[in-house]
Amino acid sequence: MSNHGSGLRVVLTGAPGCGKGTQARLLKERIGVPHLSTGEMLRAEAYTGSELGLKIKALIDKGNLVPDDMIIDMLSRRIEEKDCENGFILDGFPRTLPQAEALDKMLKDKGIKLDAVIEIQVPDEIIMERILGRYACMKCGQGYHDKYQKPKVYGVCDNCGGTEFYRRIDDNRTTVQNRLVNYRALTYPTIPYFEKEGLLKCVDGTGSIEAVAKKIDDLLGV
Ligand code: AMP
Repeated sequence: MSNHGSGLRVVLTGAPGCGKGTQARLLKERIGVPHLSTGEMLRAEAYTGSELGLKIKALIDKGNLVPDDMIIDMLSRRIEEKDCENGFILDGFPRTLPQAEALDKMLKDKGIKLDAVIEIQVPDEIIMERILGRYACMKCGQGYHDKYQKPKVYGVCDNCGGTEFYRRIDDNRTTVQNRLVNYRALTYPTIPYFEKEGLLKCVDGTGSIEAVAKKIDDLLGV
């Protein structure tokens, strides 16, 4: 079984706040394949205020996962789109063993396979500080941090000049604790699963954004 096209098919995984989203956005620029964030897809649906969106929002705001069948259906439809033909970066999926098995089946049916699953490792105490301090530009989504990544000019986005910022509702201490519990119970079991498949590569996520990006490039050979 060989990959169609030249692009890479990569999963970025790790605990909430490990930097998957940041690294996925940067990697997308370097390898030119779409960044598929199930969290962003769900937040977009929640934002519409639809009946489904409200159900999703209630789960996200408490730090609980949305049901496997819903997320598998959403992701499989997204992967069918033309822009994913030459590769993709998955961020936040798979988050459970049934999702990992469903992804395997989805790709097998299409005759393609993953190139790598990269686990970004960060200790819990660092995760809490990272998540509680993070915020993003309303206009372009550029991420910032109260302590570690401030805009060059106070209150102005470096990337687009936007002046309005937001914090995720689920980025509060109680919800993050629950997200970490769910990570250990439901998502962590996917790590040995991918290791068994020979796909797992681990990276220390505690360095600077640039240093972690460099390690990911090295692991992927790009
Ligand atoms: P993220 O943006 O990846 O931190 O995801 C935010 C929230 O969306 C998670 O805490 C879950 O409630 C939900 N979510 C995102 N991806 C998944 C997934 N693959 N399975 C179930 N729930 C998900």
